[in-house]
Amino acid sequence: MSSFKALVVTKPETGYACDFATFDEQDLMEGDITVRVTHSTVNYKDGLAVTGKSPVVRRFPMIPGVDFAGEVISSSHSEWKAGDHVILNGWGLGETHLGGYAERARVPGSWGVPLPFGMSHAQAMAIGTAGYTAMLCLMAIEAHGVTPGRGPVLVTGAAGGVGSVAVALLAKAGHHVVAATGRPEEHDYLRDLGAAEVIERSELMVPLRPLAKERFAGAIDAVGSVVLANVMSMTKYGGAIAACGLAGGMDLPANVAPLILRGVSLLGIDSSQCPMVVRREAWRRLANELDLARLAAMTSHIPFDEVKTVAARILEGKVRGRVVVEIG
Ligand code: NDP
Repeated sequence: MSSFKALVVTKPETGYACDFATFDEQDLMEGDITVRVTHSTVNYKDGLAVTGKSPVVRRFPMIPGVDFAGEVISSSHSEWKAGDHVILNGWGLGETHLGGYAERARVPGSWGVPLPFGMSHAQAMAIGTAGYTAMLCLMAIEAHGVTPGRGPVLVTGAAGGVGSVAVALLAKAGHHVVAATGRPEEHDYLRDLGAAEVIERSELMVPLRPLAKERFAGAIDAVGSVVLANVMSMTKYGGAIAACGLAGGMDLPANVAPLILRGVSLLGIDSSQCPMVVRREAWRRLANELDLARLAAMTSHIPFDEVKTVAARILEGKVRGRVVVEIG
């Protein structure tokens, strides 16, 4: 197949365009593995790239899509051979390197993670960057001593992609999970994923007090801004917060008091350039620890043609859980 279907972002003289097109294999970027992409997904960042709402795309034309799973069809990389199954997350995919919304991709072999044994391409993309980031968050707070029994662990943006996987992972690990959502209709969904308590997002959007009542031993925050500032002020002495998202805003109107008077740790999480050794450990743990029935319950599947519609909806906070895109 020398040409294939792709979603392509271009920058006409005025504006920003994102349309399906026929792309030629010879126009793929440098890399030592070529992959038949079978599945991708829709993360918040994909929503930004497809709609052009934030300057995520930094090369034109660009194929968006920060994730893919597929089968290697040719390789000049020592670790990969034709027929291998590979997962790609981040590394600038869909931003500076042609991404996952295409039937073919070419990437450096050093970026790929082998599909864990027993996991399907579709399950890998049900996890995707959002789920892998949730695991990075869990690993970070655990490393800072947030272990089961220390107290409730909060998840913000809980009904979204990162949030849903975080709730399921924390519950499986034995934590008392408090899920915060702005969508009352998703309370039962979050309890089914393992949340012990569900609270309204508005409880975390109150006027900021430097030190509020200590409620949470730890938190995984996908929202940022005022919500993160309040979470900091509500975290118990010695607790830790993994901050990975900005769904509520990129600012952080916070007070240092929780950091310097309660020893609270604010841990930044980046999935895109995360070192390979940490990635592989995150995927190993996801394969072992994520309850597949709960993963299925939080996942919907869409045909490739619906990516643009769902990308716009995710920015409105209207997508529940995870979305798998059937590419090939
Ligand atoms: P989703 O849209 O699936 O989830 C975000 C959730 O945040 C929504 O479902 C909603 O949850 C909540 N939310 C949305 N808008 C607002 C708002 N205005 N104020 C407060 N809460 C809001 O996105 P993802 O799960 O894919 O990503 C979540 C965040 O994490 C994004 O900001 C994304 O960029 C970031 N991210 C960062 C990564 C990293 O490497 N650091 C990797 C992956 C994601 P609810 O309805 O339950 O309140």
